[in-house]
Amino acid sequence: MEILKDIRDLNVGEILEDIDMREYTTYRAGGHALGLVYPKDVEGLIVLLKYLRENNIKHKILGKGSNLIFSDEKYEGILIKLDALDELEVKGREIRVGAGYPLIKLAVRLSRLGYTGLEFATGIPGTVGGAVYMNAGAYKSDMGYIVKSVKVLTPRYRVVEMTNYDMHFHYRSSFLQQNPDYICLEATLILQKGDPDEIMQLIDDRKRRRLETQPLEYPSAGSVFRNPEGDYAGRLIEECGYKGYSIGDAEVSTKHANFVINKGNANGNDIKKLILEIQSKVKEKYGIELKIEQEFVE
Ligand SMILES: Cc1cc2nc3c(=O)[nH]c(=O)nc-3n(C[C@H](O)[C@H](O)[C@H](O)COP(=O)(O)OP(=O)(O)OC[C@H]3O[C@@H](n4cnc5c(N)ncnc54)[C@H](O)[C@@H]3O)c2cc1C
Repeated sequence: MEILKDIRDLNVGEILEDIDMREYTTYRAGGHALGLVYPKDVEGLIVLLKYLRENNIKHKILGKGSNLIFSDEKYEGILIKLDALDELEVKGREIRVGAGYPLIKLAVRLSRLGYTGLEFATGIPGTVGGAVYMNAGAYKSDMGYIVKSVKVLTPRYRVVEMTNYDMHFHYRSSFLQQNPDYICLEATLILQKGDPDEIMQLIDDRKRRRLETQPLEYPSAGSVFRNPEGDYAGRLIEECGYKGYSIGDAEVSTKHANFVINKGNANGNDIKKLILEIQSKVKEKYGIELKIEQEFVE
């Protein structure tokens, strides 16, 4: 394969060929992708991006794939994982962390050190970069509350620091979603000091609640839809009678109607079909167009 050979010659980092997206997404669904590259550093990432863009080759940053639904057709492009950007520096209340760092690991580590502010993230199985992109959050908090600044790679290959204000954080939305050619390299967070025992207690309580209310025993990508203003997507979906409804092995969870779960061998296209059907049914019944929080990748 020409593209993979070219990338190998660039010597930017490890390359995997013909990868099975079931192994790289939390839905455990989707087809194969041409290749996956792990750039060894930012310079490697820049060299890789220049090659891909100059040759019009489809590409995408992949975090933990915990918000993505890949179609079953082959992704004829290159996925890029920033696992090498995993530095962590704690200086007083400021925490500098690489985009590839796993969010749950970060949240638990900092909570144990007595930092408060990141407890909401202990159930969000993404990377720091993916969480900034999504402005991931829970329990009335999100990344926008704790991010001081974000180091990004611009489409012109400059590394710049963007402030919290520049990032346009809103409910599950950020500057990066509107500008997908920008890449998050690192985030600086500001946290407060608290009592480690109380922090860990709060985390344990929330974990228990999540286990009771969410179908975490099945592969999924968390909530499918954003909650509409003043309401809950799960309530609307449940009232449309969708709990337990399935297409193939993709099923609306009986525990939480805003979760679609993979009961076994769900394929990406069935998950997508089910989500679009729910969206159109809720629109028909309530006139509300639910916004899809997850992302379809073709
Ligand atoms: C069980 C479960 C529970 C969940 N609970 C929550 C929750 O409570 N709250 C919540 O908000 N979400 C939740 N999620 C969804 C998901 O974990 C978040 O959206 C998470 O932030 C996605 O991170 P990721 O690294 O997996 O990104 P991916 O899913 O891999 O990618 C998501 C998007 O971000 C882009 N991206 C990733 N990294 C970068 C980067 N460095 N620079 C630029 N773009 C980038 C990707 O290209 C893609 O467009 C849950 C998911 C699961 C499976």
